[in-house]
Amino acid sequence: MMSASSAAGQQSPYQAGKNPGKHEPLEDFKYDLENSKGWEGEGGSAKEVTVEEFPVSKSIAGVSMRLKPGAIRELHWHAIAAEWAFVITGTVRTTVINPNDQNSAATDDFEPGDIWYFPKGFGHSIQNIGNEEAHFLLGFDDGHFSEFGTFSITDWVAHTPRNVVERNLNLPANVISTLPKKEVYILPGKIPASSEYRSSDLQPSQSAHKYRLGEQRAIEFPGGRDRIVTVKEFPINNTLTSVLQEIYPGGLRELHWHPNADEWQFYLSGRSRVTVFGAHGRARTEEFGPGQVCFIQQGFGHYVEQVGNEPTKLVILFNSPVFEEISISKWLSANPTSLIADNFGISNTAVARLPKKVLGFIK
Ligand code: MN
Ligand code: MN
Repeated sequence: MMSASSAAGQQSPYQAGKNPGKHEPLEDFKYDLENSKGWEGEGGSAKEVTVEEFPVSKSIAGVSMRLKPGAIRELHWHAIAAEWAFVITGTVRTTVINPNDQNSAATDDFEPGDIWYFPKGFGHSIQNIGNEEAHFLLGFDDGHFSEFGTFSITDWVAHTPRNVVERNLNLPANVISTLPKKEVYILPGKIPASSEYRSSDLQPSQSAHKYRLGEQRAIEFPGGRDRIVTVKEFPINNTLTSVLQEIYPGGLRELHWHPNADEWQFYLSGRSRVTVFGAHGRARTEEFGPGQVCFIQQGFGHYVEQVGNEPTKLVILFNSPVFEEISISKWLSANPTSLIADNFGISNTAVARLPKKVLGFIK
């Protein structure tokens, strides 16, 4: 094991802290989702960021999906993850079957700024019911959601013996032979004339799957604002918190950390520099712009500096339904003057200048 002094002298990639020992450099926390290749088909496209592409992000995965007018993300479910989404452009309709309320299902229409949440395992579909392309961001509360857990109806039926399909779906052999031979995933479709269920026995679900985040009243600060939705405002959403955030030109999101959750950011517009502090002398800065994903591990200190003249707009997911944050300004205000003076080796006059309440976004 290297001693602290020799480590410093030899410019080792490892940092020596209070306890001797090796600390790997901070993991890469930036992923350029919109510039990745992804899947493309006749009905639309999908770009994924899972642990496969972005190893640091074990708790959260995302997909940037586009559907052409009428196109359908086919009936499917996710065995190991709940699905969250934020609509960026267009109008989409989802259907979801809810196993908890008796005989219940939900059909909802979503516009830009709206979010949805489907608990783990609920069967659902997504369709663009507008006349322009729909673009939405999907989030999952498990970084492995894709490779180990997306189940599509065509894949299932294609891998079920014909005689079983015949008995279960009540279809004649000549129709069964025309069914898709493998998963169709995203397919072209027609904008439906009606959203009525095939069965009249079904009741609308009593748990709302939709929340209008963009319409929520914002928490305003001099340098930016937040719209935060937790399980309190959106009860079915019991594994995630999401935030729609704007940072005004020149704004600084102050030094803070989240004791209970990882933070996954997707940039919609504008630019920002994010600096993450990972203890043991480790800090790393990356710059982000539209279509890029940032991941900040639970408990790691961080701040965000807005860059450029256009406000920065981003959506954020935390993998906890409860929002927790500690800001450096509030922390310092909750200590006696002499302790702060001694800790930093500064005068009481200097301590008196320090903020006494949360700054949030500094102008
Ligand atoms: Mn899904
Ligand atoms: Mn944060």
